[in-house]
Amino acid sequence: MRLKNLVSQFESLETPFYHYDLDLLKQTVSEVKELAEKYDFDIHYAVKANSNERILSELNDAGFGADCVSGNEVKLASKVGFSSESILFAGVGKTDKEINIALDLNIKAFNCESTQEIEVLNDLAGKQNKVAEISLRINPNVDAKTHKYITTGLDENKFGINQVDLEVLVSKLPEWKNINLTGLHFHIGSQITDMNVFKGLCLRVNELQNWFEDNAIKIEHLNLGGGLGINYLSPDEESIPEFKTYFGIFNEFLERKPGQKVHFELGRSIVGQCGSLITRVVFIKNGINTDFAIVDAGMTELMRPALYQSYHQIENLSSEGEVKNYDVVGPICESTDCFGKSVKLPETRRGDFIALRSAGAYGEVMTSRYNLRDQNAPLYTE
Ligand SMILES: *Cc1c(COP(=O)(O)O)cnc(C)c1O
Repeated sequence: MRLKNLVSQFESLETPFYHYDLDLLKQTVSEVKELAEKYDFDIHYAVKANSNERILSELNDAGFGADCVSGNEVKLASKVGFSSESILFAGVGKTDKEINIALDLNIKAFNCESTQEIEVLNDLAGKQNKVAEISLRINPNVDAKTHKYITTGLDENKFGINQVDLEVLVSKLPEWKNINLTGLHFHIGSQITDMNVFKGLCLRVNELQNWFEDNAIKIEHLNLGGGLGINYLSPDEESIPEFKTYFGIFNEFLERKPGQKVHFELGRSIVGQCGSLITRVVFIKNGINTDFAIVDAGMTELMRPALYQSYHQIENLSSEGEVKNYDVVGPICESTDCFGKSVKLPETRRGDFIALRSAGAYGEVMTSRYNLRDQNAPLYTE
Protein backbone atom coordinates (compact mmCIF):
# COMPACT_ATOMS: atom_id res chain seq x y z
CA MET A 1 0.00 0.00 0.00
CA ARG A 2 2.66 2.43 1.04
CA LEU A 3 4.65 1.87 -2.15
CA LYS A 4 1.67 3.01 -4.22
CA ASN A 5 1.90 6.37 -2.50
CA LEU A 6 5.44 6.78 -3.77
CA VAL A 7 4.64 6.37 -7.44
CA SER A 8 4.74 10.10 -8.12
CA GLN A 9 8.27 10.10 -6.68
CA PHE A 10 9.22 7.16 -8.89
CA GLU A 11 8.05 8.93 -12.09
CA SER A 12 11.19 10.99 -12.51
CA LEU A 13 13.61 8.11 -11.95
CA GLU A 14 15.23 5.73 -14.35
CA THR A 15 14.13 2.16 -13.71
CA PRO A 16 14.94 -0.43 -12.49
CA PHE A 17 16.13 0.65 -9.05
CA TYR A 18 16.02 -0.57 -5.47
CA HIS A 19 13.80 1.23 -3.03
CA TYR A 20 14.61 1.02 0.67
CA ASP A 21 12.10 1.85 3.38
CA LEU A 22 14.43 3.12 6.11
CA ASP A 23 11.55 3.54 8.50
CA LEU A 24 10.80 -0.19 8.36
CA LEU A 25 14.51 -0.93 8.69
CA LYS A 26 14.65 1.20 11.86
CA GLN A 27 11.60 -0.52 13.34
CA THR A 28 13.11 -3.93 12.58
CA VAL A 29 16.43 -2.94 14.09
CA SER A 30 14.83 -1.62 17.24
CA GLU A 31 12.85 -4.84 17.73
CA VAL A 32 16.06 -6.89 17.37
CA LYS A 33 17.93 -4.58 19.74
CA GLU A 34 15.27 -4.74 22.41
CA LEU A 35 15.21 -8.55 22.42
CA ALA A 36 18.99 -8.84 22.22
CA GLU A 37 19.32 -6.59 25.26
CA LYS A 38 16.68 -8.54 27.12
CA TYR A 39 18.53 -11.84 26.63
CA ASP A 40 22.06 -10.41 26.56
CA PHE A 41 22.72 -11.57 22.99
CA ASP A 42 25.23 -9.87 20.66
CA ILE A 43 24.10 -9.14 17.11
CA HIS A 44 26.46 -9.09 14.17
CA TYR A 45 24.87 -8.07 10.91
CA ALA A 46 25.73 -10.40 8.01
CA VAL A 47 27.11 -7.85 5.55
CA LYS A 48 26.71 -10.10 2.52
CA ALA A 49 22.90 -9.81 2.70
CA ASN A 50 23.14 -6.15 1.75
CA SER A 51 26.37 -4.17 1.78
CA ASN A 52 24.80 -0.90 0.70
CA GLU A 53 26.69 1.75 2.70
CA ARG A 54 23.60 3.66 3.76
CA ILE A 55 22.17 0.48 5.28
CA LEU A 56 25.48 -0.51 6.85
CA SER A 57 25.72 2.88 8.57
CA GLU A 58 22.24 2.43 9.96
CA LEU A 59 23.20 -0.94 11.43
CA ASN A 60 26.48 0.37 12.78
CA ASP A 61 24.61 3.24 14.45
CA ALA A 62 22.31 0.64 16.03
CA GLY A 63 25.35 -0.86 17.73
CA PHE A 64 25.44 -4.13 15.79
CA GLY A 65 28.75 -5.74 14.86
CA ALA A 66 29.60 -6.92 11.33
CA ASP A 67 29.87 -10.49 10.10
CA CYS A 68 31.96 -10.50 6.92
CA VAL A 69 32.70 -13.20 4.36
CA SER A 70 35.42 -11.54 2.27
CA GLY A 71 38.38 -9.24 2.70
CA ASN A 72 36.50 -6.50 0.90
CA GLU A 73 33.54 -6.81 3.26
CA VAL A 74 35.95 -6.52 6.18
CA LYS A 75 37.46 -3.38 4.61
CA LEU A 76 34.04 -1.88 3.89
CA ALA A 77 32.72 -2.57 7.39
CA SER A 78 35.76 -0.86 8.82
CA LYS A 79 35.43 2.09 6.42
CA VAL A 80 31.76 2.58 7.30
CA GLY A 81 32.71 2.80 10.96
CA PHE A 82 32.29 -0.63 12.53
CA SER A 83 34.97 -0.94 15.22
CA SER A 84 37.60 -3.67 14.75
CA GLU A 85 36.33 -5.23 17.94
CA SER A 86 32.94 -5.78 16.32
CA ILE A 87 34.09 -7.40 13.05
CA LEU A 88 34.06 -11.16 12.46
CA PHE A 89 35.41 -12.86 9.36
CA ALA A 90 33.88 -16.14 8.12
CA GLY A 91 34.14 -18.11 4.88
CA VAL A 92 35.49 -21.45 3.61
CA GLY A 93 38.10 -20.00 1.27
CA LYS A 94 39.83 -17.00 2.82
CA THR A 95 42.91 -16.16 0.75
CA ASP A 96 46.22 -15.07 2.31
CA LYS A 97 45.54 -11.55 1.06
CA GLU A 98 42.16 -11.47 2.78
CA ILE A 99 43.50 -12.93 6.01
CA ASN A 100 46.22 -10.26 6.04
CA ILE A 101 43.66 -7.49 5.52
CA ALA A 102 41.77 -8.74 8.57
CA LEU A 103 44.94 -9.17 10.63
CA ASP A 104 46.07 -5.64 9.72
CA LEU A 105 42.75 -4.30 10.98
CA ASN A 106 42.93 -6.36 14.20
CA ILE A 107 39.41 -7.70 13.80
CA LYS A 108 37.73 -9.44 16.70
CA ALA A 109 37.83 -13.04 15.42
CA PHE A 110 38.08 -15.41 12.48
CA ASN A 111 35.49 -18.11 12.05
CA CYS A 112 37.64 -20.99 10.77
CA GLU A 113 36.35 -23.84 8.71
CA SER A 114 39.26 -26.26 8.16
CA THR A 115 42.49 -27.47 9.75
CA GLN A 116 44.53 -26.15 6.85
CA GLU A 117 42.95 -22.71 7.20
CA ILE A 118 43.98 -22.61 10.87
CA GLU A 119 47.54 -23.62 9.94
CA VAL A 120 47.75 -20.82 7.38
CA LEU A 121 46.21 -18.29 9.76
CA ASN A 122 48.64 -19.33 12.50
CA ASP A 123 51.49 -18.79 10.08
CA LEU A 124 50.32 -15.39 8.81
CA ALA A 125 49.50 -14.13 12.31
CA GLY A 126 52.98 -15.25 13.40
CA LYS A 127 54.55 -13.13 10.67
CA GLN A 128 52.74 -10.11 12.10
CA ASN A 129 53.60 -11.11 15.70
CA LYS A 130 49.94 -11.37 16.51
CA VAL A 131 47.70 -13.90 18.14
CA ALA A 132 44.48 -14.29 16.15
CA GLU A 133 41.34 -15.18 18.00
CA ILE A 134 39.34 -17.91 16.30
CA SER A 135 36.01 -19.66 16.52
CA LEU A 136 35.64 -23.09 14.99
CA ARG A 137 32.81 -23.35 12.56
CA ILE A 138 31.43 -26.79 13.21
CA ASN A 139 29.14 -28.60 10.83
CA PRO A 140 26.48 -29.86 13.25
CA ASN A 141 24.69 -32.04 10.68
CA VAL A 142 21.35 -30.38 11.42
CA ASP A 143 18.86 -30.18 8.54
CA ALA A 144 17.67 -26.59 8.13
CA LYS A 145 14.64 -27.75 6.09
CA THR A 146 15.07 -24.94 3.61
CA HIS A 147 15.90 -24.87 -0.12
CA LYS A 148 18.79 -27.23 -0.84
CA TYR A 149 20.89 -24.45 -2.32
CA ILE A 150 20.83 -22.54 0.97
CA THR A 151 21.30 -25.45 3.36
CA THR A 152 24.77 -25.31 4.88
CA GLY A 153 24.81 -27.51 8.00
CA LEU A 154 24.63 -31.04 6.59
CA ASP A 155 27.59 -33.44 6.26
CA GLU A 156 27.45 -33.15 2.47
CA ASN A 157 27.86 -29.34 2.54
CA LYS A 158 31.25 -27.70 2.09
CA PHE A 159 30.88 -25.52 5.20
CA GLY A 160 32.35 -26.05 8.64
CA ILE A 161 34.58 -28.67 10.20
CA ASN A 162 33.11 -32.14 10.42
CA GLN A 163 32.78 -33.58 13.87
CA VAL A 164 34.95 -36.60 12.98
CA ASP A 165 37.91 -34.22 12.46
CA LEU A 166 37.56 -32.41 15.78
CA GLU A 167 39.69 -34.76 17.85
CA VAL A 168 42.74 -34.45 15.59
CA LEU A 169 42.25 -30.71 15.30
CA VAL A 170 42.06 -30.19 19.04
CA SER A 171 45.19 -32.29 19.56
CA LYS A 172 47.09 -29.83 17.35
CA LEU A 173 46.00 -26.69 19.21
CA PRO A 174 49.09 -26.53 21.48
CA GLU A 175 51.34 -26.37 18.37
CA TRP A 176 49.61 -23.30 17.03
CA LYS A 177 51.13 -20.46 19.05
CA ASN A 178 49.57 -17.62 17.07
CA ILE A 179 45.95 -18.56 17.36
CA ASN A 180 43.65 -18.63 20.33
CA LEU A 181 40.52 -20.76 20.12
CA THR A 182 37.80 -19.07 22.12
CA GLY A 183 34.52 -19.83 20.41
CA LEU A 184 32.30 -22.15 18.45
CA HIS A 185 30.43 -21.07 15.37
CA PHE A 186 27.40 -22.57 13.63
CA HIS A 187 25.38 -21.48 10.62
CA ILE A 188 23.09 -24.14 9.23
CA GLY A 189 21.34 -22.33 6.41
CA SER A 190 19.17 -19.45 5.39
CA GLN A 191 15.45 -18.69 5.07
CA ILE A 192 14.66 -21.09 7.90
CA THR A 193 11.00 -20.90 8.86
CA ASP A 194 10.62 -24.09 10.90
CA MET A 195 11.48 -22.94 14.41
CA ASN A 196 12.06 -26.53 15.57
CA VAL A 197 15.21 -26.45 13.49
CA PHE A 198 16.69 -23.86 15.86
CA LYS A 199 15.73 -25.94 18.87
CA GLY A 200 17.53 -28.89 17.25
CA LEU A 201 20.58 -26.68 16.72
CA CYS A 202 20.59 -25.66 20.41
CA LEU A 203 20.57 -29.29 21.50
CA ARG A 204 23.52 -30.14 19.22
CA VAL A 205 25.44 -27.09 20.40
CA ASN A 206 24.91 -28.11 24.04
CA GLU A 207 26.38 -31.56 23.34
CA LEU A 208 29.27 -30.17 21.36
CA GLN A 209 30.31 -27.57 23.87
CA ASN A 210 30.28 -30.18 26.60
CA TRP A 211 32.69 -32.21 24.49
CA PHE A 212 35.03 -29.21 24.34
CA GLU A 213 34.74 -28.70 28.05
CA ASP A 214 35.61 -32.36 28.62
CA ASN A 215 38.69 -31.70 26.50
CA ALA A 216 39.68 -28.79 28.74
CA ILE A 217 38.88 -26.09 26.17
CA LYS A 218 37.05 -23.10 27.49
CA ILE A 219 34.40 -21.80 25.10
CA GLU A 220 33.98 -18.11 25.82
CA HIS A 221 31.49 -17.46 23.09
CA LEU A 222 28.94 -19.26 21.02
CA ASN A 223 27.99 -17.94 17.63
CA LEU A 224 24.71 -19.36 16.35
CA GLY A 225 24.89 -17.77 12.89
CA GLY A 226 21.85 -16.39 11.12
CA GLY A 227 19.22 -18.00 9.00
CA LEU A 228 15.90 -16.73 10.33
CA GLY A 229 13.48 -16.62 7.41
CA ILE A 230 11.13 -13.87 6.32
CA ASN A 231 7.58 -14.01 4.96
CA TYR A 232 7.96 -13.68 1.19
CA LEU A 233 4.31 -14.62 0.61
CA SER A 234 2.81 -11.78 2.68
CA PRO A 235 5.38 -9.04 3.22
CA ASP A 236 2.81 -6.54 4.44
CA GLU A 237 1.21 -8.87 6.99
CA GLU A 238 4.60 -9.78 8.45
CA SER A 239 6.97 -6.96 7.69
CA ILE A 240 9.01 -7.69 10.84
CA PRO A 241 10.05 -11.34 11.27
CA GLU A 242 9.30 -13.50 14.32
CA PHE A 243 12.32 -12.39 16.33
CA LYS A 244 10.50 -12.99 19.63
CA THR A 245 10.00 -16.70 18.95
CA TYR A 246 13.47 -17.03 17.44
CA PHE A 247 15.44 -15.49 20.30
CA GLY A 248 13.06 -17.08 22.82
CA ILE A 249 14.02 -20.56 21.58
CA PHE A 250 17.74 -19.89 22.05
CA ASN A 251 17.08 -18.40 25.45
CA GLU A 252 15.13 -21.48 26.47
CA PHE A 253 17.16 -24.32 24.98
CA LEU A 254 20.76 -23.15 24.75
CA GLU A 255 22.76 -24.12 27.83
CA ARG A 256 24.85 -21.08 28.42
CA LYS A 257 27.91 -21.44 30.62
CA PRO A 258 28.59 -18.74 33.20
CA GLY A 259 30.03 -15.60 31.59
CA GLN A 260 29.64 -17.01 28.09
CA LYS A 261 28.77 -14.60 25.29
CA VAL A 262 26.20 -15.54 22.67
CA HIS A 263 26.37 -14.08 19.16
CA PHE A 264 24.00 -14.10 16.21
CA GLU A 265 24.75 -13.18 12.62
CA LEU A 266 21.47 -12.11 11.10
CA GLY A 267 21.26 -10.95 7.51
CA ARG A 268 18.04 -11.59 5.66
CA SER A 269 15.73 -11.14 8.65
CA ILE A 270 17.07 -7.62 9.28
CA VAL A 271 17.13 -6.18 5.77
CA GLY A 272 14.91 -8.46 3.66
CA GLN A 273 11.56 -6.73 3.99
CA CYS A 274 12.75 -3.12 3.74
CA GLY A 275 13.80 -3.41 0.08
CA SER A 276 11.80 -3.66 -3.14
CA LEU A 277 12.99 -3.71 -6.71
CA ILE A 278 11.00 -1.14 -8.69
CA THR A 279 10.67 -1.72 -12.40
CA ARG A 280 8.58 -0.48 -15.34
CA VAL A 281 6.69 -2.61 -17.82
CA VAL A 282 8.39 -2.29 -21.21
CA PHE A 283 5.97 -4.35 -23.29
CA ILE A 284 2.93 -6.55 -22.97
CA LYS A 285 3.08 -9.52 -25.30
CA ASN A 286 0.37 -12.09 -26.02
CA GLY A 287 1.29 -15.62 -24.99
CA ILE A 288 -0.30 -18.98 -25.83
CA ASN A 289 -1.30 -19.67 -22.21
CA THR A 290 -0.73 -16.40 -20.39
CA ASP A 291 0.32 -12.99 -21.57
CA PHE A 292 3.81 -11.77 -20.80
CA ALA A 293 4.52 -8.60 -18.87
CA ILE A 294 8.09 -7.82 -19.91
CA VAL A 295 9.69 -5.53 -17.33
CA ASP A 296 12.93 -3.57 -17.43
CA ALA A 297 14.45 -5.42 -14.44
CA GLY A 298 15.93 -8.82 -14.94
CA MET A 299 17.91 -11.54 -13.19
CA THR A 300 20.81 -9.09 -13.40
CA GLU A 301 19.10 -6.93 -10.74
CA LEU A 302 17.39 -9.70 -8.76
CA MET A 303 18.96 -13.09 -9.22
CA ARG A 304 17.18 -15.06 -6.52
CA PRO A 305 14.33 -16.45 -8.67
CA ALA A 306 16.80 -17.65 -11.33
CA LEU A 307 19.30 -18.91 -8.76
CA TYR A 308 17.05 -20.73 -6.31
CA GLN A 309 13.54 -20.61 -7.69
CA SER A 310 12.61 -18.14 -5.01
CA TYR A 311 9.32 -16.33 -4.80
CA HIS A 312 8.93 -12.56 -4.59
CA GLN A 313 5.51 -10.99 -4.34
CA ILE A 314 4.82 -8.95 -7.46
CA GLU A 315 2.64 -5.86 -7.28
CA ASN A 316 1.42 -3.49 -9.96
CA LEU A 317 1.61 -0.03 -8.39
CA SER A 318 -0.05 1.79 -11.30
CA SER A 319 -3.21 -0.13 -12.13
CA GLU A 320 -6.55 -0.85 -10.51
CA GLY A 321 -7.91 -2.74 -13.53
CA GLU A 322 -9.45 -6.16 -13.90
CA VAL A 323 -7.23 -8.98 -12.62
CA LYS A 324 -5.55 -11.17 -15.24
CA ASN A 325 -2.69 -13.66 -15.35
CA TYR A 326 0.75 -12.65 -16.53
CA ASP A 327 4.13 -14.24 -16.75
CA VAL A 328 6.35 -11.48 -15.42
CA VAL A 329 9.70 -11.73 -17.17
CA GLY A 330 12.86 -9.67 -17.59
CA PRO A 331 14.73 -8.63 -20.74
CA ILE A 332 17.80 -10.86 -20.23
CA CYS A 333 18.61 -13.55 -22.80
CA GLU A 334 18.04 -16.50 -20.45
CA SER A 335 14.86 -18.51 -19.94
CA THR A 336 15.38 -18.45 -16.17
CA ASP A 337 14.99 -14.67 -16.35
CA CYS A 338 11.43 -14.93 -15.06
CA PHE A 339 10.08 -13.39 -11.85
CA GLY A 340 6.80 -15.27 -11.76
CA LYS A 341 4.54 -17.44 -13.86
CA SER A 342 0.77 -16.87 -14.09
CA VAL A 343 0.89 -14.01 -11.63
CA LYS A 344 -2.47 -12.41 -10.89
CA LEU A 345 -2.17 -8.67 -11.55
CA PRO A 346 -4.64 -5.91 -12.32
CA GLU A 347 -4.67 -5.21 -16.05
CA THR A 348 -1.08 -4.31 -16.79
CA ARG A 349 0.07 -1.87 -19.44
CA ARG A 350 3.29 -0.53 -20.91
CA GLY A 351 4.81 1.97 -18.48
CA ASP A 352 3.19 0.61 -15.29
CA PHE A 353 5.35 0.45 -12.18
CA ILE A 354 5.85 -3.04 -10.80
CA ALA A 355 7.34 -3.76 -7.38
CA LEU A 356 9.18 -6.99 -6.58
CA ARG A 357 8.81 -7.14 -2.84
CA SER A 358 11.05 -8.47 -0.04
CA ALA A 359 14.17 -7.85 -2.08
CA GLY A 360 16.29 -6.13 0.59
CA ALA A 361 18.45 -9.20 1.21
CA TYR A 362 20.51 -10.96 -1.45
CA GLY A 363 19.07 -8.60 -4.05
CA GLU A 364 21.16 -5.54 -4.81
CA VAL A 365 24.34 -7.33 -3.65
CA MET A 366 23.97 -9.97 -6.36
CA THR A 367 23.52 -7.46 -9.17
CA SER A 368 25.60 -8.33 -12.22
CA ARG A 369 26.55 -6.48 -15.38
CA TYR A 370 25.66 -9.42 -17.62
CA ASN A 371 24.27 -8.02 -20.91
CA LEU A 372 26.14 -4.81 -20.00
CA ARG A 373 23.28 -3.61 -17.89
CA ASP A 374 23.06 -0.14 -16.38
CA GLN A 375 23.07 0.07 -12.59
CA ASN A 376 20.81 2.76 -11.17
CA ALA A 377 21.21 4.25 -7.71
CA PRO A 378 18.75 3.17 -5.02
CA LEU A 379 16.02 5.40 -3.61
CA TYR A 380 15.67 5.71 0.16
CA THR A 381 12.58 6.95 1.93
CA GLU A 382 11.97 7.42 5.64
C1 LIG B 1 25.05 -15.78 5.06
C2 LIG B 1 25.52 -15.97 6.42
C3 LIG B 1 24.78 -15.45 7.50
C4 LIG B 1 23.48 -14.72 7.33
O1 LIG B 1 22.44 -15.56 6.97
P1 LIG B 1 20.94 -15.00 6.88
O2 LIG B 1 20.17 -16.20 6.46
O3 LIG B 1 20.92 -13.92 5.88
O4 LIG B 1 20.55 -14.54 8.24
C5 LIG B 1 25.30 -15.62 8.76
N1 LIG B 1 26.47 -16.27 8.97
C6 LIG B 1 27.19 -16.78 7.96
C7 LIG B 1 28.48 -17.45 8.26
C8 LIG B 1 26.74 -16.66 6.66
O5 LIG B 1 27.46 -17.18 5.67
